[in-house]
Amino acid sequence: MLNAVLVMLVVGGLMGLVLGVASIVFHVEIDNRIDQVISMLPGINCGGCGYAGCKGMAEALVSQDTNTVSLCKPSKMDAKIKIAEYLNSTPGPDGKVLNVKP
Ligand code: SF4
Repeated sequence: MLNAVLVMLVVGGLMGLVLGVASIVFHVEIDNRIDQVISMLPGINCGGCGYAGCKGMAEALVSQDTNTVSLCKPSKMDAKIKIAEYLNSTPGPDGKVLNVKP
C-alpha cells in the first residue's frame, strides 16, 4: 500500500514538472489589442475584407499585414477612426504602437 502511494506521488510530481516546463517552453504572448479591435469591428464575419472574419481582420491589423481599416466596408467611418486611433496610441507587448489608417 505504501509503495503504491509513493509511486503515485512520484508520478504526480513528475507530471507536474513536465507540465510546468511545457507551460514555459510553449508560452505564447497574447496581444490584447486583437480582442479590443474585434469588439470595435461590426462582427458580421462576412469576409469582405479578404480575411477570415472579423478576428482575421483584427489579427491582420495588429500584425501589420494590413494598415487600412477601410478594408472593412460594413464598418462605419467613426468606428474606423476609433480603431485607428486605438492602435496608433496603444502599445503592444513589444512596447510599440502601430501606424494604422482609418
Ligand atoms: S469586412 Fe468587416 S465585418 Fe466583414 S469580416 Fe471583415 S472585418 Fe468583419
